[in-house]
Amino acid sequence: MDAIVLGGGLMGTASAFFLARRGVRVTLIERRRIGAGATVASFGNIRRSGRHLAQLPLAARSLAIWNEAQTLLGRDVEFRATGHLRLIFDTDGLDDMRRYARAARGNDLTLEELGPDDLRRRFPGLGPDAIAASFSPRDGSANPRLVAPAFADAAARAGACIVDEAPVLDMRQSEADFEVKTAKGVHRAATLLNCAGAWGREVAARFGEEVPLGTWGPQMAVTEPVPHRIAPVVGVWSRAHGAYLRQVERGNVVFGGAVPRVPVAPDPGFAHADPFSLPTQVASVLKLVPALGEVAVIRQWSGCEGYVADNLPVMGASGTTPGLFHAFGFCGHGFQLGPGVGDAMAELIATGGCATPLADFSITRFAA
Ligand SMILES: Cc1cc2nc3c(=O)[nH]c(=O)nc-3n(C[C@H](O)[C@H](O)[C@H](O)COP(=O)(O)OP(=O)(O)OC[C@H]3O[C@@H](n4cnc5c(N)ncnc54)[C@H](O)[C@@H]3O)c2cc1C
Repeated sequence: MDAIVLGGGLMGTASAFFLARRGVRVTLIERRRIGAGATVASFGNIRRSGRHLAQLPLAARSLAIWNEAQTLLGRDVEFRATGHLRLIFDTDGLDDMRRYARAARGNDLTLEELGPDDLRRRFPGLGPDAIAASFSPRDGSANPRLVAPAFADAAARAGACIVDEAPVLDMRQSEADFEVKTAKGVHRAATLLNCAGAWGREVAARFGEEVPLGTWGPQMAVTEPVPHRIAPVVGVWSRAHGAYLRQVERGNVVFGGAVPRVPVAPDPGFAHADPFSLPTQVASVLKLVPALGEVAVIRQWSGCEGYVADNLPVMGASGTTPGLFHAFGFCGHGFQLGPGVGDAMAELIATGGCATPLADFSITRFAA
């Protein structure tokens, strides 16, 4: 069996890795550099709480792989199960958290509820005005710069052919196979997996499948390094845009949220950081950690991410084209899911079935 994976972000590299381990002859084609799309821009949150319930089985599959990433990939991608703390500042947030915690319980996700005293004792200095919090101890973060190159290298060691910096000039299906013509040569395979991220819509449209996907850039920033004091990833249960932050081991505090995403033109797909969003973000971050008031912000960035209208990704077999599969449009929360997406897509392609339920993500939901 052979396959072409289109797109070398986290989804494409993880898929190539797991396909190669299943003995599929796989070629990964990336038009730019491996991991340099939405993946490298990610905040790096490996969070399950608050996810759409339909995603939790896939998120559980993914978390199990994150826990083994160093062994599987042969290098440290800085996955740390530091826990995910979500602060609550109002009764709406408390109601939402409790409702979600009840609903998520059957999906291997247990959220501890912390009252204000527990919160202050266990996490001094975080959210002094919070009335409560949830804590998910097995979640955490990883380094978005490291993970896609690590999957691509591991895929190559497992036998995959990685073709990067290869603009795609044409792609078509003949009777026998798919043909992808790139600036570096023509590749053919019986299976084509569309992992083109925010650009997956264009690939799907070539095969007659329309997906309501918009391209947007979440706003991120990072501070200068300061002594390491913040262990968990910190977020908020909020009906508005909540801020979130984490402190990397080198001491910098990465943060995002609290402001609307900026629109991004998919061609060329470079997302701009908006300097005017920074004061609002910083004000929100200071509610989470007031001690950051004295710390300098040294950089802002964004990345082009595909958001599907119903906020769920597109995953599974094509509805129009035998041999074509999709895994794109991860709506700002694909980093956690990435390893599980690769493993699940490889299982689906290699065996024709998948132990993890994917029906809610099928592209056929838009066919009507
Ligand atoms: C600023 C930001 C912060 C985020 N924070 C988080 C977070 O904290 N937690 C979380 O879970 N998720 C987060 N996300 C979302 C997460 O990063 C993405 O969902 C995930 O990385 C998507 O991976 P991907 O492989 O689908 O897409 P990408 O990484 O964008 O990869 C797609 C690749 O396909 C290539 N490509 C496109 N078209 C073609 C073509 N025709 N031929 C060949 N190659 C092609 C592109 O060049 C690109 O490299 C964030 C996203 C952004 C932008």
